[in-house]
Amino acid sequence: MWRRVFIRLSNRVTAWRQARVPARNLLLLLPHCLHNDTCRQNVVRNLDECLHCGKCSISDLVKVRNDYGVIGCIVGGGSQAALQAQREDVKAVVAVACDRELFEGIVSAFPKPVVAISNETPEGPCHNTKVDINKVKVAIESLIEK
Ligand code: SF4
Repeated sequence: MWRRVFIRLSNRVTAWRQARVPARNLLLLLPHCLHNDTCRQNVVRNLDECLHCGKCSISDLVKVRNDYGVIGCIVGGGSQAALQAQREDVKAVVAVACDRELFEGIVSAFPKPVVAISNETPEGPCHNTKVDINKVKVAIESLIEK
């Protein structure tokens, strides 16, 4: 519960900072649990392996990444997320994850601006999770230069 409060506060601070970065410097950071567990495509290695069958949110997320021209990657956990967020070319982050990983991600990316979006867990935690694509688009638009 306290993590949810922290995430809301952090998102408000990010909005207040009004940071804007080029799209090529914005990282869309995604958790591997969004990937449908029956899919044989190795989207964790390369998002472009998605065949857009529509069984999971990855298809829409790849389209969003392409439409905005941001960096996109899927990570298996907090340490991989931290490595990606700390890359020199990454100036801001839109992160999707569970509250625990979002909290760790915000801390490890500091002081880079982060918009954090909690994933949805219709089948329970860490398994075939989903994300509201509109929230992802709004978050990206709030951080990229027009
Ligand atoms: S949308 Fe892409 S990643 Fe998701 S199950 Fe289909 S091919 Fe796999």
